[in-house]
Amino acid sequence: MPCPWRHLEAAARASPPRNARCAKQSEDGVPAPTSAIPRPPGVRILEDKDMLDFSQGEYGMLRDALRRLIAEEINPYVDEWEEARIFPAHEVMAKLGEAGFLGLTKPEAYGGLGLDYSYGVMMAETLGEIRCGAVPMAIGVQTDMCTPALARFGSDELRAQFLAPAIAGEMVGCIGVSEPEAGSDVAAIRTTARKDGDDYVINGGKMWITNGMQADWMCCLANTGGDSRHRDKSLIVVPLDSKGVERSRKLHKLGMWSSDTAQIFFDDVRVPQSFRVGEEGEGFRYQMIQFQEERLWAAAVVIRALERLVKETAEYTGQRQAFGAPLLSKQVIQFRLAELQTEIEALRALIYRATEHYVAGEDVTRLASMAKLKAGRLGREVTDACLQYWGGQGYMWESEPARQFRDARLWSIGGGADEVMLQILSRMDGFVPEGE
Ligand SMILES: Cc1cc2nc3c(=O)[nH]c(=O)nc-3n(C[C@H](O)[C@H](O)[C@H](O)COP(=O)(O)OP(=O)(O)OC[C@H]3O[C@@H](n4cnc5c(N)ncnc54)[C@H](O)[C@@H]3O)c2cc1C
Repeated sequence: MPCPWRHLEAAARASPPRNARCAKQSEDGVPAPTSAIPRPPGVRILEDKDMLDFSQGEYGMLRDALRRLIAEEINPYVDEWEEARIFPAHEVMAKLGEAGFLGLTKPEAYGGLGLDYSYGVMMAETLGEIRCGAVPMAIGVQTDMCTPALARFGSDELRAQFLAPAIAGEMVGCIGVSEPEAGSDVAAIRTTARKDGDDYVINGGKMWITNGMQADWMCCLANTGGDSRHRDKSLIVVPLDSKGVERSRKLHKLGMWSSDTAQIFFDDVRVPQSFRVGEEGEGFRYQMIQFQEERLWAAAVVIRALERLVKETAEYTGQRQAFGAPLLSKQVIQFRLAELQTEIEALRALIYRATEHYVAGEDVTRLASMAKLKAGRLGREVTDACLQYWGGQGYMWESEPARQFRDARLWSIGGGADEVMLQILSRMDGFVPEGE
């Protein structure tokens, strides 16, 4: 399918250059940054196309379209869904699918747009404008957690049966890695898939599964047998209406309320062996590859949410009077907000750098792990600091800082805890003594 956005490219090229809007004098007479800084002769200038800038060109147009969809179809309902502790996944995915957003980086043959992964990061960053963490997370599971391995390694038939409808928003997917006895230690999972004729017979269960109550299928990691704990697992697509699947309960969580998180049991669940993604025994490796996109996505999705909170905290403290002046007149608050914004910008730079390397075809396990670690830590720091400046109002259950405080706490745990990121980084950077 041709990209429906291509015709807009020329219009974007005609749009004003970066920083053009900044070329004005600020109120205190200090010149604002301008694009007309004289360059030393003979020095190569990095073109815009060399840098990630999601406000420009195709990025900008896709981002604006997604923003409109969020503003019209998602944000007006977020409070209602949070209160109901579930959002209508099929309805929301159908709207996103119809607009092309569930397959930006997926093959055109299955209804995707075939764009490079920087567009996935642009989408994750923009999803941060949804006024809760739960709905972006559910969308991210569909686009960047349960489908990357299927898109990369799945057979044509499997992709036609499960990837194409996930891209179209006709089916909701989920990713089944964690189990009651194994989260951080992925290789310790106990779910088994035993061969019987042309089928696998699956037994075991999965824990904390996002979209789990509503999903049509799961990309499930199961033990299929082999000679080492890293080569004895396979990823298998399990339709969740199969006999023997039991979605036992919707889990009650600290945050991410409108996302349905389930515990799911498998009791002699039969699926054809053709539902296996790629080679048998390669599931652990595929999952590790898939984690690169999951972790970049999970880092990028926090940026706009945190920026919004910093901005709204400035607005709130700018209005809130204490000791005869707005709270924001205290330099300690101004400086703290400026510091937090600086940290967010540094996170963005790290994510963009990781993305550029990933798009260039490199393994970015190291940079993606750093970004995920930084995002988890920063999510906690920013929401805690901002909530403080909202005082009692921030402590109210339904307030924006309280929701973000609850939701952001997940990112130091889910998709690989901070310590797992540190374990990966310690190994990769050679900080682990030999023999350990
Ligand atoms: C809301 C939510 C949604 C989720 N969605 C999904 C999903 O869709 N699919 C899915 O498969 N999973 C999902 N998960 C599971 C999530 O990925 C796991 O919770 C996570 O990987 C951590 O595993 P665990 O909870 O078993 O923690 P454990 O492995 O028991 O670890 C507990 C804590 O120990 C510490 N720790 C762990 N390893 C080390 C180490 N090597 N060194 C030092 N300290 C360490 C960390 O602080 C960690 O938080 C979700 C979880 C939640 C809460």
